[in-house]
Amino acid sequence: MSETEQRWLTHEKEMWAVIHCLKTWCHYIGSKDVVVCTDNVTLKYFATQPKLSSKQMRWQNTLALFNVDIRHKPGKDNVVPDALSRKQQLRVVYVGEMELQKEVCQASRRDAFAKEARQNIQNGTKSHFHLQNGLLWYKQKRLYVPERKMRDTILKECHDGPLVGHGGAKRTTTLLKKSYYWPNLKDSAEDYVKTCLNCQQNRTLNKKQVGLLQPLPIPEGPWESVSMDFMVSLPPSRGFDAIMVVVDRFSKMAHFIPTKDEATPKKLVGCSSHMSSSFMGFQRT
Ligand SMILES: [Zn+2]
Repeated sequence: MSETEQRWLTHEKEMWAVIHCLKTWCHYIGSKDVVVCTDNVTLKYFATQPKLSSKQMRWQNTLALFNVDIRHKPGKDNVVPDALSRKQQLRVVYVGEMELQKEVCQASRRDAFAKEARQNIQNGTKSHFHLQNGLLWYKQKRLYVPERKMRDTILKECHDGPLVGHGGAKRTTTLLKKSYYWPNLKDSAEDYVKTCLNCQQNRTLNKKQVGLLQPLPIPEGPWESVSMDFMVSLPPSRGFDAIMVVVDRFSKMAHFIPTKDEATPKKLVGCSSHMSSSFMGFQRT
């Protein structure tokens, strides 16, 4: 398939495959009745679809040349063709898994989290981990993956792999949780899916379209409305390593409040509102 064709929606790709097969085997088919079984339910309604794109109209013209009956067969009832088409991929996945376990075993020796878990097991402390063949397992069946690089490889396999086909964050997390474990696994999966270029280019949004950006109302007096920003990762000074900058949107007067990188939003809001309300009254925004 060309790059453009690869970006088509799933049911269009499926229909394209049907048309391709009909054209390729037209000399065998002739005027005979043909039954096409597909696991894509949308194709069943292709012939009765009221609105068609130009591409779909061309396909319908081709379909009209044959006596085709398109039937839906759910994926779970169609396991044999699936297994045959994925045989080679399964072998690659298995070999990859063995290689990965070797790498994980080596990396676990220098990982602080793995060392602590090992220590707990040796001390007999109650834990969800257990050791097997030098590998750390979480709740019996989930392999602990120590390094970022390996986690990224696994994420790629569980999201971009040919067997999974760019599932959403939930599906990717479920797949990961079946076999792997590391702290904040769900967040890693969500971040990975959010930044996947393929998903961003091809996924259709079901949400209502957002409107235009709205400007903030113009303040009518000083300290009615303020903006905030942070300067972080500064060299420590008197116990602080960040500066919170509060600027009055009317007069552009600025206040610099010393704070810490790890300060919580609640603490910061309390700090800024206490300071500004003491000197300048309360803000609207
Ligand atoms: Zn993706």
